[in-house]
Amino acid sequence: MEKLLIRNVRIYDPSQNLNGVLGNLLLEGGRILEAGAGVEDPQALVLEGNGLCAAPGLVDLHVHLRDPGYTYKEDIFTGCRAAAAGGVTSLVCMPNTSPALDSPQTIAYVLEQGEKADARVYPAAAITKGLEDNGGLCDLEELARAGAAAFSNDGRPVVNSAEMAEAMERAAALHKPVLSHCEDLYLSQGGKMHQGSVSRELGVPGVPAAAEECCTAREIALAAAYHVPVHICHVSTAGSVAMIRDARRRGVKVTGETAPHYFALTHEELRARDGDFRMSPPLRETEDVQAIIQGLKDGTLQAIATDHAPHSPEEKEDFLKAPNGSIGMETSLAAAITYLVKPGHLSLLDVIRLMSTSPAGILGIPAGTLAPGAPADVVLFDPEEAWTVCPEQLHGKSRNAVFKGRTLFGKVKYTLCRGKIVFKDASGEA
Ligand SMILES: [Zn+2]
Repeated sequence: MEKLLIRNVRIYDPSQNLNGVLGNLLLEGGRILEAGAGVEDPQALVLEGNGLCAAPGLVDLHVHLRDPGYTYKEDIFTGCRAAAAGGVTSLVCMPNTSPALDSPQTIAYVLEQGEKADARVYPAAAITKGLEDNGGLCDLEELARAGAAAFSNDGRPVVNSAEMAEAMERAAALHKPVLSHCEDLYLSQGGKMHQGSVSRELGVPGVPAAAEECCTAREIALAAAYHVPVHICHVSTAGSVAMIRDARRRGVKVTGETAPHYFALTHEELRARDGDFRMSPPLRETEDVQAIIQGLKDGTLQAIATDHAPHSPEEKEDFLKAPNGSIGMETSLAAAITYLVKPGHLSLLDVIRLMSTSPAGILGIPAGTLAPGAPADVVLFDPEEAWTVCPEQLHGKSRNAVFKGRTLFGKVKYTLCRGKIVFKDASGEA
């Protein structure tokens, strides 16, 4: 088995408290052998790191791969290619496919395809049959045996509170997280963007912050009442952050994720009436952005995911009819560096914790670390390189990127997954 020595890198590994230590990384047989200063092996192949930063591959808890059923938007291979280009080596794919991921057969399909793809794919199985409201619970135990890594009805909430409570209890017994898309559908009905000053000026129906917060409150109440964990997806409002903070102080087992667009952008983006900025939950207000950043700083939110949600240009063309979502795996690390590290909100080590070590822990997978024996999933990046996001140059099938045209700091140069180089940045080469 050939060894690979990644030489001359600044190592960021929250699991070992390695905060930029200059050293080398030795890999063999798809595993990390050692990371740190003075690690050498004269027999190993050498990848010269030239002072790049090295971190455990990113773990994205929230991705839509659109496969099976919507492969004109994305498929498992193109989605994982986009992941690799963004430094993401493990991802959770959501079950709102066609058919939905609500059977052992569909879970097996995703796992089989994922084995051959450029990232590790962890399917989240549906909570209710066909993702239907009041659809009855899926056989969560059977789905876990088939390889489901989590449970979610993402795209929509679980509307029936009794079904959600039972799902949370059964998932807890299986040690699998429940990932909750929090939305009160009665409040959000017909809304195209955040309900606030901009929606009123534009005369566009809005989604109030309360649509998210009512459901966040319900999930916290259920987690508290039944003493089981719940994970809140794509937290976007100051109210949700406050409730999660309070609940965690009271010992409730609630975790939360946000996505780069919620700490970088506001509803002001919607003035251009560009369908690419339509998403659920919607872009909110400056006070919400500040609260999200504070939540990331003080540990209320434990993960930055992307909610990578590919849609075709035709679907996104009409602002009012556009489906919700934006792609994000190729820009998430750069967005975090640009909007969190550069302004001094978080350190680079904090960002790696939020994008790798901590989400790996929520999912209970052996990733997010460069400790000896860990999977050889590594991202090498230059945190200072500035680049302009050009949707045509991205690696997935869809182009609905909210950071399009923006210049971001932080470029992924190499991604290794299972010990193999799955991405090498060629953008700077002639
Ligand atoms: Zn969602």
